[in-house]
Amino acid sequence: MTTSVQSFKASAAIVRNVGGPFTIESIDVAAPSGDQVLVRMVGVGICHTDLVCRDGFPVPMPIVLGHEGSGIVEAIGDKVTGVKVGDHVVLSFNSCQSCPNCAKSQPAYCYNFLANNFAGVRPSDGSTSLAQNGAAVHGQFFGQSSFATLAIAREINTVVIDKNLPLEIMGPLGCGIQTGAGGAVNSLEMQKGDSLAIFGGGAVGLSALLGARAIDAGTVIVIEPNAARGELAKQLGATHVINPKETPDVLAKIKELSGGGVNYALDTTGIPAVMGVAIETMLPRGMLGLIGVPPPDANLPANLMSMLIRGARVKYITEGDSNPQEFIPRMLGWYKAGKFPFDRLISKFRFEQINEAAHATETGAAIKPVLVF
Ligand SMILES: [Zn+2]
Ligand SMILES: [Zn+2]
Repeated sequence: MTTSVQSFKASAAIVRNVGGPFTIESIDVAAPSGDQVLVRMVGVGICHTDLVCRDGFPVPMPIVLGHEGSGIVEAIGDKVTGVKVGDHVVLSFNSCQSCPNCAKSQPAYCYNFLANNFAGVRPSDGSTSLAQNGAAVHGQFFGQSSFATLAIAREINTVVIDKNLPLEIMGPLGCGIQTGAGGAVNSLEMQKGDSLAIFGGGAVGLSALLGARAIDAGTVIVIEPNAARGELAKQLGATHVINPKETPDVLAKIKELSGGGVNYALDTTGIPAVMGVAIETMLPRGMLGLIGVPPPDANLPANLMSMLIRGARVKYITEGDSNPQEFIPRMLGWYKAGKFPFDRLISKFRFEQINEAAHATETGAAIKPVLVF
């Protein structure tokens, strides 16, 4: 790994060992070159994937994680044309821009997604922008590594937003919120009046609810065992909430509430038995979107004849099938119109409280923590 000579001082939350903790340390961030953008962070969300990687998903360590950053552009490389110093930006995931799916505006299914988001270095030359006392530190996580006061992104994953928006809470639009809302709107291609069952009322599930409401979906049922989250789902526009602890036969209840079944279902739990129920809730030609991370050796427990009879479709979803340059402005349009109150999902913490914020999301005390700098 190599680093540039010219650099900026920053504070970063570094993970040195599997399981953490995050330790806030001083690092050097190389000046941006080429298509790179240096952003001073104002806020950054914590997403489930940050914790999966802290806990052993194969990323190299030491590493700076963080992939829901928002901030102000401080410097740009010589090839950047659409972003300028002083712009307010949301950072999203990285993509290669040269594979067939990137060419089709489907960067969430970039053939080189893993190398561009999880490798800890640039796939092109193995370099990183981060160093400490001359030793390289892994970065480039989701093309940003935004658990730091300064982050290096690329023009492709830097989305310019209006300066009158509350910048510090905008970061989660770049991953968790776009994954849920995009799951409903882009992946399932829901239309006005369509019905949806959402399994799991965490940040992604409730974002799917917000997306469905924004496009005037019909019946939206949220299945969630945490009563407080179920209550929030009702406030955010769920037509029905089912607590599986109180209603063991979830399938029968969904059919009863929806008049026979739903058009679409979305699993955010990653629990195979839940997915097996979800697939049975759908009307003919329904589609089940899978977002939750399953155990590595899990199979889908589904009856094939039942699927055949209904022409049931199943689709795994990455990043809500979003092209961030298009979908983040679309979500912000809904937000400004009062139809997409994603701020209701957010709890703020100071950057220094990163371990506390991570714990709060693991216990369920916080739905979407955002670290504020
Ligand atoms: Zn690609
Ligand atoms: Zn994420």
